[in-house]
Amino acid sequence: MALVYLNGQFCAPEQAAISPMDRGFLFGDGLYEVVPSYNGQFVGFTLHIHRLNNGLAELNIAGTPTLEEWQNICRRVLDSHEETNLGLYIQVTRGVVAQRGHAYPSATVKPTVFVYAFPIPTPRSAEITSCTPYRVVTQQDQRWQRCDVKTTSLLGNVMHYQHGREQHSDETLLFNPRGQLTEASTSNVFVLCGETVYTAPLDNQLLPGITRHILLDLLHADKKFKVIEQAVDKAQLAAADEVWITSSSREVVPVISIDGVPVGCGEIGPGWLHAFKLYSQGKFNY
Ligand code: PMP
Repeated sequence: MALVYLNGQFCAPEQAAISPMDRGFLFGDGLYEVVPSYNGQFVGFTLHIHRLNNGLAELNIAGTPTLEEWQNICRRVLDSHEETNLGLYIQVTRGVVAQRGHAYPSATVKPTVFVYAFPIPTPRSAEITSCTPYRVVTQQDQRWQRCDVKTTSLLGNVMHYQHGREQHSDETLLFNPRGQLTEASTSNVFVLCGETVYTAPLDNQLLPGITRHILLDLLHADKKFKVIEQAVDKAQLAAADEVWITSSSREVVPVISIDGVPVGCGEIGPGWLHAFKLYSQGKFNY
């Protein structure tokens, strides 16, 4: 039977219940991670837990599982499923309070810890014919100033993503007020211009994506492209040969049109194929 984990217990999903006085529900006061696994092998597990721990330290949430405890919890949830390719959803909130109030409650309040797994598609083979490219739109980023924190307060991201869907597109690329491309509503963005790959540097305007981290590391080691962590502006984006988005669940996806205008020649490019081959071959080393 498929199990979920909630606060020390493994149980059926319908048996897992959370109080409405949980600060995750009241304030969105919590963090999450999504870790992909294929045939029981995780991609970037330690990197995901490290990012979670950074966020927890930032929010002063203590008393969460150690790396080894996370591994045991996640392994048991995975093993309770029959499917071989699973995403793990991990959520930690500040916990349940007696009274609603903005201030952090006393340290005696224990965090709520939840893990469940959901089936994900078999990874696509690294071929142009097995890839469905994205068509995307753009918007000015309307979210908060701490997009580096992977909070469950995702309403800004949800609204940007929904805007894209309503335009019959697959994702929404986001520009800061200075007209620089930072990330997208649910993914990081890479831009290939000639032999140079650009992606925005890590700061408060974007999530430090694990797929971004892995792909950057692989591209650096590979040396085919020059890699520069620098945000592109609208003119540079319009002149790009290729654009790719990255996220744990979608890996590396080529973008062939932005706001209805073709990227490069409007087809999946050889740069994406090269990058996706690197990612497919290297991802289990992280
Ligand atoms: N940016 C945002 C806003 C996201 O929601 C995500 C996916 N959670 C990413 C980037 C990509 O992060 P990762 O590679 O860790 O999945």
